[in-house]
Amino acid sequence: MNKFPRSAYVHIPFCHRRCFYCDFAVIPLGKKVEPLGGYGSKTIKEYLHFLHKEILSIKHKSPLSTIYVGGGTPSILDPKQIRELIHIFKENYGIDYGAEITMEVDPASFNEEDLYGFIKAGINRFSLGVQSFNNHILQKSGRRHLREDAEKSCSWLKRVYDSGLIKSWSLDLIQNLPLSGFKEWQDDLKKAISFSPPHISIYDLSIENGTVFKKLVNIGKLKLPSDEEAFKNSELTHLILKNSGYSRYEISNYCLPRHQSRHNRVYWSGLGWWSFGQGSTSSPWGEKLTRPRVSKDYKEWVIRQYKFNLDFSLTNKDFIYKELDEKIMLGLRLKEGIDIQKVFKDQNWETTKSETTFSKLIEEWERFLDDGLLIKKGNRFFLSDPRGMELSNQILISMFKWWDKIN
Ligand code: SF4
Repeated sequence: MNKFPRSAYVHIPFCHRRCFYCDFAVIPLGKKVEPLGGYGSKTIKEYLHFLHKEILSIKHKSPLSTIYVGGGTPSILDPKQIRELIHIFKENYGIDYGAEITMEVDPASFNEEDLYGFIKAGINRFSLGVQSFNNHILQKSGRRHLREDAEKSCSWLKRVYDSGLIKSWSLDLIQNLPLSGFKEWQDDLKKAISFSPPHISIYDLSIENGTVFKKLVNIGKLKLPSDEEAFKNSELTHLILKNSGYSRYEISNYCLPRHQSRHNRVYWSGLGWWSFGQGSTSSPWGEKLTRPRVSKDYKEWVIRQYKFNLDFSLTNKDFIYKELDEKIMLGLRLKEGIDIQKVFKDQNWETTKSETTFSKLIEEWERFLDDGLLIKKGNRFFLSDPRGMELSNQILISMFKWWDKIN
């Protein structure tokens, strides 16, 4: 069996500005992106030069079945730059027939002509970061786009999907943003559904260190939905999406039949993937490798790989297994859950060790099984939907405690 990764993630770190909740490895370029030839576009060109070098540095390549261009804001790039990127993969790795090639796009950073350009470049699936259709909420969250931009982008994507030019697209929303009460959230969900996206991602807002939101929370100036409101919002999400034919195949992801993201399933299922670009994390053989988050360090890192001929992500020495707790965590996020006995078996443990470890985990999870948050069918464990999925953190915390105890 060919063990080389068949999926690649590419990080485009540029954004116009940093949103108030975001702690990703991004470079805010402000208005400097335009006009062509200005400071921003020079920065982008220089970054792409190093990114291409990194992509080409892999020696043992296999044809790819999924490529994901994420960020940042990849739609800041010109369609020609996306075409060049896909071309490099095609020429040097090969791209499988029917491969899923996704690109994240941000309303207000592309127009309809760009969209056709991205499709021509080879993109066949888009993920649109709408986050909300409410202008007050967007503004409070530091987003640059307005409702009108989001609506326009959705109609363009709907049109290219309906006419068969792309395979799928996702509309992404953030649940529990400031000012987003029941009514506002209901409006956002209804608006989203009105465009019939085949895939919807609903991310729960999390407050990360170093963000504007974190500072506002610290000084008591951020009004977020209460726990009770947040729970009601989640229930509403479940109800509206389910009644509209969407199935929840992962904690944050819903889709119509046959529209799951194949690329994201690679992360959750523990298969290996390449990753390229500043701040991105690859895991070709189970071991994770994160690139420097700062531009200067990333460029030096790429140069070093060449200078010393470092085979940084490819030595297929011994396959290194993902940490067991991480495997369980990723498996539990999926609708089909995880076969725990199989995970133990993969560890090559003796039977007694597997049995003791398993019974300790069951002890830890007994209350969740009794409460119906967690369901066991044979050796397979999965979260009930919606309650188990909503309260997944409690179950995962208890699993991490169990992991610490047995270690
Ligand atoms: S557009 Fe996305 S990546 Fe860029 S700052 Fe906002 S949330 Fe972060």
